[in-house]
Amino acid sequence: APVIGVLAVQGDVVEHVRALTLAGAEAVPVRRPAELAAVDALVIPGGESTTIDRLLRIFDLAAPLRERLAQGMPAYGSCAGMILLSSEVLDGHRDQQCLGALDISTRRNAFGRQVDSFEVELAVAGLAEPFHGVFIRAPWVERVGAEVEVLATVERDGVEHVVAVRQGNVLATSFHPEVTDDARVHALFVEMVRSSGSIEARAGADGIAS
Ligand code: GLN
Repeated sequence: APVIGVLAVQGDVVEHVRALTLAGAEAVPVRRPAELAAVDALVIPGGESTTIDRLLRIFDLAAPLRERLAQGMPAYGSCAGMILLSSEVLDGHRDQQCLGALDISTRRNAFGRQVDSFEVELAVAGLAEPFHGVFIRAPWVERVGAEVEVLATVERDGVEHVVAVRQGNVLATSFHPEVTDDARVHALFVEMVRSSGSIEARAGADGIAS
């Protein structure tokens, strides 16, 4: 099974570990550079993007994580994780940095105070049945680069806002599949990891034959 890390500096780590396990992966928390080096792929959980950003730098994970992402390590971010994977944050906190793994601009807390948390049935590209989207002070994607595939949108006041994207090996959702019992988004990610070649790269680095 692919070994998928869950960045464990802040946020809903346990929920992602559970969902990844349901989806057939071996899920491990990642807090140190050595732990990051040992995984095939990484999930960045929901939480608070400004806090995760700060802790990434304090834990000396920011530079090695950027490097793995640049080398093509598959990654999935939900909510705060989507913000961190983006290349530009609108409404970001002063000094807030992101990882630039997705050619998108995200807007934090985009759905506004009145409806800062809501749930809606979503059509997600690649899933046969609708997915129950749980949005908690969620971002939306305001700009999508040419290489980015839009997987889901939510309508607000007559405008469709992008809430799920994929670019190569990187997946992101504004919503939190990890807080539901439905592991289909995680299964989609596990499938991306299986077909990415990342597992073979790790096995090779470990000196394992198969
Ligand atoms: N609003 C949070 C942020 O900016 C994200 C919220 C979440 O992950 N549920 O990081």
